[in-house]
Amino acid sequence: RCRMSGLGKYSPLTDFQLMEVSLRELLGEKGVVSDAEVDAVAADMKSRGPERGAKVVARAWTDAAYKQRLLADGTKACEELGLDVPALRLVVVENTPQVHNVIVCTLCSCYPRMLLGLPPDWYKSSNYRSRVVREPRAVLAEFGTRIPDEVAIRVHDSTADMRYMVLPLRPAGTEGWNEQRLAGLVTRDSMVGVARARTAGARPPPTRAAACRWATARPTSSFPTASTWK
Ligand code: FE
Repeated sequence: RCRMSGLGKYSPLTDFQLMEVSLRELLGEKGVVSDAEVDAVAADMKSRGPERGAKVVARAWTDAAYKQRLLADGTKACEELGLDVPALRLVVVENTPQVHNVIVCTLCSCYPRMLLGLPPDWYKSSNYRSRVVREPRAVLAEFGTRIPDEVAIRVHDSTADMRYMVLPLRPAGTEGWNEQRLAGLVTRDSMVGVARARTAGARPPPTRAAACRWATARPTSSFPTASTWK
């Protein structure tokens, strides 16, 4: 039995989809998990956006002691805010005027879903995964994020049991803002590190065009395969 999702035209299952269906059905038959439990987790995942991550960032911007705890142990600091990061080690990396951080999963698509929701398609593309480790400055520029040469860029490769999240720089001109207002400046892309947080008073940036370009396949055959980077 296979689940048809969406209204698109039929296409055969990929190897990974087949493996997922096989494993899920086997776990169901053995009574380890029920379809209802799988559906509930999937629905919960889909309902999440980047609000949880934004809440964490805004707290860190307004509470220096919390920020230190967050950088020391991301998982524990999230639990303080009632955010469960189940069975994962969350490492929060702080942007500074000297260092800009960006995250990737070179192997597949590991992503801090519990804080940011489902990953965008470009994050999962082989194009992003292979290039951001090799030429991060160029890739960020394609997202419209120009990092000056004197600022170092650190690329963090996620794994199955460890996730990274970027703590963006607090935008100038936000002195005295409360947490809720600050959270409105924290975008998904700023917590991945392909963008900065919104500036105070600015309109939401037109990131959609950049994201669309990233969703389309580019020739990547000249790049090493993801496993090269592991
Ligand atoms: Fe992954």
